[in-house]
Amino acid sequence: MAKIVCVLYPDPQTGYPPSYARDSIPSITRYANGQTAPAPHDLGFKPGELVGCVSGELGLRAYLEGLGHELIVTSDKDGPGSELERHLPDAEIVISQPFWPAYLTPERIAKAPKLKLALTAGIGSDHVDLEAAAKAGITVAEVTGSNSISVAEHVVMMVLSLVRNYLPSHEIAVKGGWNIADAISRSYDVEGMDFGTIAAGRIGLAVLRRLKPFGLKLHYTDPHRLPAEVEKELELTYHPDPVSLVRAADIINLQMPLYPSTENFFNDALFAEMRRGTYLVNTARGKLVDRDALVRAVKAGIIAGYAGDVWFPQPAPPDHPWRTMPYNGMTPHISGTSLSAQARYAAGTLEVLQNWFEGTPIRDEYLIVDGGRLAGTGAKSYKLD
Ligand code: NDP
Repeated sequence: MAKIVCVLYPDPQTGYPPSYARDSIPSITRYANGQTAPAPHDLGFKPGELVGCVSGELGLRAYLEGLGHELIVTSDKDGPGSELERHLPDAEIVISQPFWPAYLTPERIAKAPKLKLALTAGIGSDHVDLEAAAKAGITVAEVTGSNSISVAEHVVMMVLSLVRNYLPSHEIAVKGGWNIADAISRSYDVEGMDFGTIAAGRIGLAVLRRLKPFGLKLHYTDPHRLPAEVEKELELTYHPDPVSLVRAADIINLQMPLYPSTENFFNDALFAEMRRGTYLVNTARGKLVDRDALVRAVKAGIIAGYAGDVWFPQPAPPDHPWRTMPYNGMTPHISGTSLSAQARYAAGTLEVLQNWFEGTPIRDEYLIVDGGRLAGTGAKSYKLD
């Protein structure tokens, strides 16, 4: 029987279960690109429940223990004495989330000789060293599509929030103030501005579609061009490279995957190409942006506002400069783990586990590494160097 180690974020400080604001969530059965939502059998939770934290256990316990497997659920993931490290030597499956990632480094993979499946409950498998996983014959999978719209909505919220100066204005109201000039001295309309997304995959394209009705001029760059009819429908300007895009944009969205050659993609040199007063939103990965170069760009006025929910490492240390730099609209990593998103990624996690234990194929779109190489979505969106 298998040992499954599941690393999830801690429970709410106010206790579990929380008191829910709503009694149900809409049922989404198909995504915009035609892909069907996960459809496992024996779902162990009610959609809309908080299952992404330790006590929620992604709703997996009854299914796994019913088959006689051992399920360990913990949030203790960092350092040599952590519960994750204690269980690695005999774990067959490690499940983790981008929000509270169990970093599977080459050193950790070497300590896990029985590990066969590294499964991400969500999207983005960069917390797993994909090259080391491929060499060790580990399958890496994620629940592609499960929270793409959740993230796209978050991006739209952050674009509007930064440009309209929402958070500082809200703070004035909360503190009993009424100084309108203070609130609006950095507030603009997005209408007519140039908006560019770096990567127009599932999330990037969903952001473009959602921003179209705001009257922005839309731009994108991506290794592959979108179909001509999509470019026409959204009146998109394609840029062959990111430098061309950042020169043309007032607001930039970063939505590409993190792999070795995209680390610190936003660095002093790229910031130097931008218009003064550019807004930057990053819900892709923290390591895509050089931490200190961003702080310098904010101080220099190149960046008028920065928002996002991704950091490195996660959780971010209390003194991480992005927590306190001016004009930031950062949140902890939450965009892809709304209660609505959890319903889909927890169901997708169960679907992959059922494939695994029942010997049926994992959907191609969920695969990142398989058979010693990049596979499925991994072969399209990631590189090993
Ligand atoms: P997709 O795989 O659908 O899209 C990724 C896109 O990035 C593809 O179009 C790919 O191009 C493009 N790309 C790859 N390398 C580059 C590059 N060097 N420059 C420009 N574009 C590049 O992924 P999603 O849209 O679903 O997700 C994107 C990322 O968002 C994830 O990898 C993850 O890091 C992050 N994410 C964050 C979440 C959160 O909670 N904050 C939740 C979900 C995802 P092509 O395939 O055409 O070659």
